[in-house]
Amino acid sequence: PPVDDPRRPATSAALFEAARAVIPGGVDSPVRAFGSVGGAPAFISSASGARVRNVEGREYVDLVGSWGPALLGHAHPEVVEAVRRAAGRGLSFGAPTAAETALAEAVRSRVPAAERVRLVSTGTEATMTAVRLARGATGRDLVVKFSGCYHGHSDGLLAEAGSGLATGGLPGSAGVPAAVAGLTIVLPYNDLEALRACFSAHGERIAAVITEAAPANMGVVPPAPGFNEAIRTVTAEHGALMIADEVLTGFRVGPAGFWGLEALDGWDRTQAGTGVTPSRPGADWRQRATWVPDLLTFGKVVGGGAPLAAVAGRAELMELLAPTGPVYQAGTLSGSPLATAAGLATLALADDEVYATVAQHAGQIAQVVGQALEAQGVPHRVQHAGSLFSVFFGQRAAEQPVGSYEEARAQETWRFAPFFHAFLDAGVALPPSVFEAWFVSAAHGQAEVELIARAAGEAARAAAQA
Ligand code: PMP
Repeated sequence: PPVDDPRRPATSAALFEAARAVIPGGVDSPVRAFGSVGGAPAFISSASGARVRNVEGREYVDLVGSWGPALLGHAHPEVVEAVRRAAGRGLSFGAPTAAETALAEAVRSRVPAAERVRLVSTGTEATMTAVRLARGATGRDLVVKFSGCYHGHSDGLLAEAGSGLATGGLPGSAGVPAAVAGLTIVLPYNDLEALRACFSAHGERIAAVITEAAPANMGVVPPAPGFNEAIRTVTAEHGALMIADEVLTGFRVGPAGFWGLEALDGWDRTQAGTGVTPSRPGADWRQRATWVPDLLTFGKVVGGGAPLAAVAGRAELMELLAPTGPVYQAGTLSGSPLATAAGLATLALADDEVYATVAQHAGQIAQVVGQALEAQGVPHRVQHAGSLFSVFFGQRAAEQPVGSYEEARAQETWRFAPFFHAFLDAGVALPPSVFEAWFVSAAHGQAEVELIARAAGEAARAAAQA
């Protein structure tokens, strides 16, 4: 029956069952499936601000935020209106539009290392293109990634990836040819010695190191002070490129992403959770920056909730892309008028006050959750990367910061499912995996912080009893 037909089932459980009969696992992205927490995922009927509503009509404080894009909260009226107007002018033309240039300019004005910007539709395409570009530019085949970092689902980047693979405990994916996997070197995160040793052994064959500017797909594991800088130095010494993946962090933790926060503002772990207000790059950005990547990837916030992402970087590298250069990349719906409208409206609204508000409320939410766990005697650690944060369970995490995927996986993961469901029962929707960051929006206010604080007691009790 049609989607709004009354004969269609009206509960999440029934919809999930119907979905599973036609969609593998009932979901179009595995992270939605409640795989590690159990139960049927909530089917969402609508969302606004900091709240989502399921098909049963129940409202939740939302800490998923569409896995990142919803920086302003859901269905911001100005973003919705911009998309509505764009839709009225035509959904897609397969020809250039002024909005694409305006969005590329908006990206570059916030992240000046993005001298040229190519719009694509997903983060996966952005990182895949960045890797191809790095290989095309250097004439080398090997790519280095860090375990626990997720860069989308292209063949070469799935090895020891975070996100849904972490949730599922998967080392990689079936269907990736060994010949392709063999071109990816996986190193432990935050391990400078391993990075140096790798470059000593294979430096002349490495096209690029790709890294999440601040990893947030194995839980939030911020770079140790100087780690990104060291990646920059080591790659430059060996003629390899540095790709900073800011699909998740870009335009979310600050106007210039995690790069702006760390390379310009000097963010470090000791400032975590204090609601530091990030600055914007000035004319002196190149002198100030402690590290500058060759290529960057963006997604999520840059599309304001519509399918849009970007690969960007140094002009002479980016000009190697077709049609100016020999590295091919294309997309029927790239720079979609609907997506550029949503992205432009979102970035226009994402001013310093928005970032300050998000940082402040994220800090408060992290604090009330930490206090509740403390009160119940649940050993844990809350880790931050700007306004992104996540909770790690267990004595080991409580005693020292989690700095790698190995350490992230060593936590007491079983405490998360009851914690998650207690929050859900109390009307708070967390990302359904212990390996995911919590996403706070500018629409989260005092009411949401209080609701989360009230729910946190029960959730902490459930975690304590697990
Ligand atoms: N890179 C990072 C850091 C991500 O977090 C993600 C998605 N969570 C991706 C790449 C892939 O983006 P997409 O899901 O849009 O393909």
